[in-house]
Formats: sequence, C-alpha cells, structure tokens
Amino acid sequence: MSKRIQSIRGMHDILPEQTPHWQFLEGLLRDLVAAYGYREIRMPIVEKTELFKRSIGEVTDIVEKEMYTFEDRNGDSLTLRPEGTAGCVRACLEHGLLHNQQQRLWYMGPMFRHERPQKGRYRQFHQLGIEAFGFPGPDIDAEMIALSARLWRLLGLKDVRLEINSLGSSEARAAYRAVLVAYFRDHFDALDEESKRRLETNPLRILDSKNPELEEIIAGAPSLLDHLDEESVEHFARLRERLDDLGIEYRVNPRLVRGLDYYSRTVFEWITGSLGAQGTICAGGRYDGLIEQLGGKPGTAIGLAIGIERLLALLEEEGRLPPPVECHAYLVTVGEGSERAGALLAERLRDRIAGLRVVCHAGGGGFKAQMKRADRSGADWALILGEDEVTAGTVTLKPLRGQADEQQTLDEASLIERLARWVNKED
Ligand code: ATP
Ligand code: MG
Repeated sequence: MSKRIQSIRGMHDILPEQTPHWQFLEGLLRDLVAAYGYREIRMPIVEKTELFKRSIGEVTDIVEKEMYTFEDRNGDSLTLRPEGTAGCVRACLEHGLLHNQQQRLWYMGPMFRHERPQKGRYRQFHQLGIEAFGFPGPDIDAEMIALSARLWRLLGLKDVRLEINSLGSSEARAAYRAVLVAYFRDHFDALDEESKRRLETNPLRILDSKNPELEEIIAGAPSLLDHLDEESVEHFARLRERLDDLGIEYRVNPRLVRGLDYYSRTVFEWITGSLGAQGTICAGGRYDGLIEQLGGKPGTAIGLAIGIERLLALLEEEGRLPPPVECHAYLVTVGEGSERAGALLAERLRDRIAGLRVVCHAGGGGFKAQMKRADRSGADWALILGEDEVTAGTVTLKPLRGQADEQQTLDEASLIERLARWVNKED
C-alpha cells in the first residue's frame, strides 16, 4: 500500500460530528448581524499580495512572516487572505459601495496564516468579520461592541471580558512612537531579540509582547493615552459613556495595540481566561485611514473579527454546545417487496412531516443486522416494514431511546400523527 497523504499541518478537516456545532454557531451569527442591519458580502479567498502589503503594513507579523504568498502561472504574486478587511475595502472601492454611502457589511470564511500551530492557533482558521463604513462614531463603535456583547449573552458565555483602548489619530501615534522609541532605547539591553527588531520596525508592538521578562519595562513605558490628540480623547470618552449606557463592563488597557498597522482611535478585544494563551476570541477597531490608503476618498471605517474556532472551543469548555443532531427514524425493511415499498413510504413521510429526518436502510441484510444499524444510527425510532405490514398497509413503530411508548403497529395516518408530534416536540 502506498503512503497515505495527510492534510496540511495547521489546516483541519471539520468532521461530521463537528459540523452541527459550526452550523449552529453560523446560523446564530447570521441572525445576529441581520438584527443590526448588516448585509453579507463574499470576497475571493485569493487577492493580489500588494493589497495586504499596502493595508496591513509591510512590517507587521502577518505580512513579514505569516502570509501564504505564491506566484500564479502568469507570474503575478497572489496571497491567500490572512484576514478579510483588506479584501472587503478593496471590493467596496471596486464596486463604488462607499460613494456617498454608509455600509454595514459582514462576511464569514477561512483565513490563512503561516503561524506555529497550537491550541487555538491554526494555519487555516475561520472568522466572522463585520465592517461599517461611513460612520465617524463613536455611536457605531459602541453598537459594534454591543453586538458582540449580545452574542456572548445569546450563547450563554460567562468568561469573556472586554478591553478597550484608543490609538489616537495617526499624527498623535507618530508623536507617541518617537517618545516610546526613546524610552525603549534607554532600556535596550533588557529587550529580547524580537523587541529589539520591533524597535526599528513597529515599536508599539513591543507593548503587546507576551514575554514575562519584559513585563516590568513595558509597565514603565509612557502611556499612549497620555499622548492622544484632543479629538480622540473626546471620541474615547463618548464611547465609554455609551458603553456605560448599555451596561457593558470594560477595562481600559493602555497596552492594547493590535497587530495590524491600519488601526486608529478605538481598539478593543474580548478575552476569555478559559482557553489558555490564545484567549482573544474577538478583536476589532477603527481604521479610518485605510480606505484612502487603498486609493479611495477619505472615509471612516470600523470592524471586528471573531475567531470561530476559538469561540467554538470556549462554547465546548463552558458546555454551551447544542446536543448532537438527532435522527428521528430509521426504516428497517424485511421480506419480499418491502424495500421498494419502504422507499416510497419514506418519501411520503418526508412530504407530510416538515423537519422529519428518516434514514432508509440500504444494502440488504437480515432483520437483526438492520436493527443493529438502526440502533447505531442514533435514531429515536425504528420503523419496521415486513411483508405483513406491506400487505396490511401498516408500519411497526419501535422506540429505541427508552420512550414510554410500547412497540405498536400503526396505519400510515396514525404513524404520521405520532411522528409529527415527536418531531415538533409536542410530547
Ligand atoms: P493573536 O494575537 O491571537 O495572534 P491577532 O491579533 O493576530 O490574534 P486578528 O488578526 O485580530 O488576530 O484576528 C481576529 C481573531 O481571529 C483573533 O482574535 C482570533 O480569535 C482569531 N485568530 C487570529 N489568528 C488565528 C489563528 N492563527 N488561528 C485561529 N484563530 C485565529
Ligand atoms: Mg496573530
């Protein structure tokens, strides 16, 4: 036998036992975003590499070392999308969706980053992204946070907390950057290799370092909040006022900087303590400069992204996943003519009972073997169709999950009535 080919490291199959969880969450997310007036947009998974370099920033982790970039047969440099915002803005500009208009948009799908795979960190992972264009805020900032807070409520999640910060205008950030670089230069020898490198390229990211040895130096660093421009201070204060109105608790974390270059003013993260190091399940912020950076007229924008795998892991951790999808009935057929009659019966049942899930035994075999399959299928009922039943126009209904019902032989109308009550959970 030749060696079997495996999936790519960090890219996972989502198996039939798991897909119901995904469908449950995806359905809930669709309803949630619709409740706030967001409309779906679907972008290609591959974009020109240039798009990500120009939007995310050349010296970010994503662009420097995480992108799946390749040349296609024309020699063009393409990249599997590492996030959705850049493609979403690109699509909006390309189709004139931002021309004197506001947009509330969402998308969901796979993203790709060549990171070191570990719990909660994959090379193909999924995000729900939502973006709002043309709202200077902070009302929309608060609305977006309220939407995410509603999601945790709907899902019954307990262990999530909100951190917010303001990055200020790009001018204010540039001024702060200089102050910060000066500070870290004074402590250069105590920095780790990564931070030394970042000092040249992206010094704000040092604040985000997870290295415990840097904790003290970082704690002593000048705070971005002391260097905000006046308008950003006002914006941030009004956002906090809104969050207070909504009764949403938060912590201001002046070290929250986010990994992408394009953020300005509001940034936020929802963090759980239940998933170890990969605790951020939702992250977002305002990126007012990006539209112009990608060739559009200046325009305001804010967005968030939810990591679906991490959210599912948290749901599992907190025991909030829905029970497995049940199969209502498994049709067992024995004897001459019953298999063909059974196939027709199952069709009639599906016609009459909305939502009924019935599996017809296929592939032959005796009664015992078929009953074993019925049991293993997880079905609630076995429907047994033997020669006698076919002749009499009846079906034998056998409970498989300890229901109070006795096994009984019913005419078709009574069977439909009984199964319909079961499917509709009326008993
Ligand atoms: P992190 O600091 O965990 O690397 P990030 O800042 O790179 O996150 P974003 O680009 O803001 O993450 O993505 C938004 C969300 O998508 C994250 O909060 C997380 O839930 C999820 N996410 C990001 N990268 C991955 C990954 N490699 N695997 C699984 N989920 C991810
Ligand atoms: Mg990352």
